[in-house]
Amino acid sequence: MSTLSATNSARQKVLGYPVDVVDQAKALDMIESAWQRGRGMQIVTLNAEMVVAAQQDAELDRIIRHAHLIVPDGAGVVWAVKLNGVQVQRLPGIELASATLRQAAVSGRRTVLLGGKPEILAQLSDELPQRFPGLNIVASHHGYFSLDEEEEVVDELTNHEPELVLVALGVPKQEYFIDRWQSYFPQAVFIGVGGSFDVWAGQVKRAPVYMQKLNLEWLYRLICEPWRWKRMGSTLPKFFLQVVQDCLKGKPQRVKPNDTAPQSCSKSDKTDCR
Ligand code: UDP
Repeated sequence: MSTLSATNSARQKVLGYPVDVVDQAKALDMIESAWQRGRGMQIVTLNAEMVVAAQQDAELDRIIRHAHLIVPDGAGVVWAVKLNGVQVQRLPGIELASATLRQAAVSGRRTVLLGGKPEILAQLSDELPQRFPGLNIVASHHGYFSLDEEEEVVDELTNHEPELVLVALGVPKQEYFIDRWQSYFPQAVFIGVGGSFDVWAGQVKRAPVYMQKLNLEWLYRLICEPWRWKRMGSTLPKFFLQVVQDCLKGKPQRVKPNDTAPQSCSKSDKTDCR
């Protein structure tokens, strides 16, 4: 059973963006329920960089707000939710994706891997079924295709009627892709997983566990991948300042009593799920 109470499974807001205070068990329950009902869902793994990017990108803004499940991936988002007095723990996208693969393997759910470099995908197509016995990878495609080629890629994937699609194209490309094509995969649970394929393939290392526990994974990424300074160096302070400003202005992003985490649903009834 989930360690979070019913109250804490409420939907919170961070700088106006929804965040579902769910732990892994609750998220997996929702995914299983989507599969059992044969209905798709989009899962966004929210962090501070994404929030700031969405403030300047109307499309990303809309996609985040309309996603079925928005999990607290980043330490900044967790910190902002906690400022509202709500207990929450990070649910890193890579861990949720891994747990979802494990769950998909149990019942042989048709799984697609999309994104990343061709050689990484080839490696994962071999290795993941060994790591998760029963995993049914029905198709995979690297992430280096043009917009013009997208339809062809989607056609190839829809033939397999996937129930799980992990999309590793980076933010916001993966969110745009899922938004554009999700309705062609009515039964699929979509998760945008960023660089997870590279980590699973051993090409990129996650932060040591003590840094993960201290919510310093972002710092580790900055140190190991200095090119991120440009992006994170401008977005993280912006995020921090805005959250502090909201807090000082007494503009709390409180839970509304009936504002609970959404159930999975198809694209057509997304409005009922917000
Ligand atoms: N990627 C891709 N196609 C592209 C650009 C990126 O498949 O056109 C992949 C890339 O190989 C990497 C992932 O997307 O595996 C992006 O990882 P990153 O850690 O940069 O993602 P973030 O979560 O930081 O956006």
